Amino acid sequence: MKILVCVSNVPDTTTKITFTDNNTQFNTNGVQFILNPYDEIALSRAIELTDGGKVTVTVINVGEVSTEATIRKALAIGATDAVRINAKPHDAWYVAYQIAQYVKANPFDLILTGRESIDYNGSKVAGMLGELLDLPSVSIIKKLDVSESSATVEREIEGGKEILTIPFPFVAGAAEGVAEPKIPNMRGIMSARTKPLIVVEPLEVKTFSEIVSYETLSIRGQVKLVAADDTAKLVELLHTEARVI
Ligand SMILES: Cc1cc2nc3c(=O)[nH]c(=O)nc-3n(C[C@H](O)[C@H](O)[C@H](O)COP(=O)(O)OP(=O)(O)OC[C@H]3O[C@@H](n4cnc5c(N)ncnc54)[C@H](O)[C@@H]3O)c2cc1C
Repeated sequence: MKILVCVSNVPDTTTKITFTDNNTQFNTNGVQFILNPYDEIALSRAIELTDGGKVTVTVINVGEVSTEATIRKALAIGATDAVRINAKPHDAWYVAYQIAQYVKANPFDLILTGRESIDYNGSKVAGMLGELLDLPSVSIIKKLDVSESSATVEREIEGGKEILTIPFPFVAGAAEGVAEPKIPNMRGIMSARTKPLIVVEPLEVKTFSEIVSYETLSIRGQVKLVAADDTAKLVELLHTEARVI
């Protein structure tokens, strides 16, 4: 079985977000980039499925050369090899299109993404990949087990669980619960240096989105605490100060 795990290179969650160029560009100066945590979960499960060499796990990233540290981390965690599509990812459509074209030429049985990237939080790439590749696509899976020709995935739904059996090939977006993220060991870090990382040039594709402007959240006002049994005061404040009722 051949598994492809899509990995994105995202700012560390502690990053202080600022913008440049009249608030149209994210300021990457001094920003520490990491492997998207949900992709780490997807990758960890894929590696768990590598049964005595019968399964290969390829990681793919659409990004510039600066993302190679993140790709090497994925190789250190245990991926077999890696592909970098050499482009600045413009938006989810661009990312999905480039990956889909690669997969059309190099088919995989299972394509895993994270449930979302923690930078733009679009949750779009997996669905778009399914559409572009004409494959089933399932979002926010919490469990993944595989058999010879199909997989069983579990999703949380309102008030319960949904269990689906899906024939290969398909696309799935992994969330918490699919696996515990693996930490690379020294052997993994050493071997990652020599594992294959191929660089593919992107294809021309029409872009549909443009950043008009970014805005950070305004600083929250002071909080007023009301005693739990003082409903009258709460109602009064909601009416006279918050003006929501
Ligand atoms: C308008 C716009 C402008 C952007 N401009 C830039 C830019 O200038 N420079 C820049 O570096 N980024 C840029 N990005 C971010 C980059 O394009 C994102 O990777 C892409 O938009 C996907 O984000 P998403 O939140 O929709 O992904 P989601 O759909 O939330 O991601 C789900 C999963 O898709 C996979 N995935 C996402 N991105 C990638 C990737 N790049 N390679 C491989 N797999 C991936 C991962 O498995 C991820 O968990 C931009 C994004 C937007 C929306």
